[in-house]
Amino acid sequence: MNILLVEDEQGVAGFIKKGLEEEHYSVDHAVNGEEGLALAMSRQYDLFILDVMLPGINGVDLCRKIREQAIQTPVLMLTAMDSVKDKVLGLNSGADDYMTKPFSFEEFLARIHALLRRKPDKLTEMTHHELRIDTIAHRVFISDNEVALRPKEYAILVYLLKNRGKVISRAQMLSDIWGYDFNPNTNFVDVHIKSLREKLGQFSSFPFVQSVRGVGYMIGSH
Ligand code: CA
Repeated sequence: MNILLVEDEQGVAGFIKKGLEEEHYSVDHAVNGEEGLALAMSRQYDLFILDVMLPGINGVDLCRKIREQAIQTPVLMLTAMDSVKDKVLGLNSGADDYMTKPFSFEEFLARIHALLRRKPDKLTEMTHHELRIDTIAHRVFISDNEVALRPKEYAILVYLLKNRGKVISRAQMLSDIWGYDFNPNTNFVDVHIKSLREKLGQFSSFPFVQSVRGVGYMIGSH
């Protein structure tokens, strides 16, 4: 899931970006409305988080401009102002939800999940045998047990599932999951796969992630 955050306050932006990345979202950050608009028009996002008080184009005008481009991506507005007038203005500009700073990260995340779930064309769940992945909240379950995965373990699992039935080489995983075009260590991928298997293995004896000797790893198509 790709999120665009437009926020000029570095402290707030850093807090939001770090928190969302820990939840396995990919976040682009723009510091003003012009930069935000350029990014919004050049990339496909799943959600926009717009601060209202921005230098140059403010968040409300930015939201209006995004909607004028027929971009229907959900918009969550952030503001330090807490008056009914500002809320109405924000929502009239095409925003889907509104939060007043300061807010708890927990509530912020819950609002984001709700907005992302609203998208009708989005795949919100993946399943494979007893395995179930909530791709909005990035949570993994085996039967009713939640499997606590680290971000890269989650990314590997989703990547292999999306490519189920195909053998994926270590080099391909390093490139697509880590963005490395070199191998930082010969067993770098293997260490993550081992840990992923151990965590899945706590709840199921099914061999979800299979090794293909000399080639790489795969999740079977059946
Ligand atoms: Ca601001």
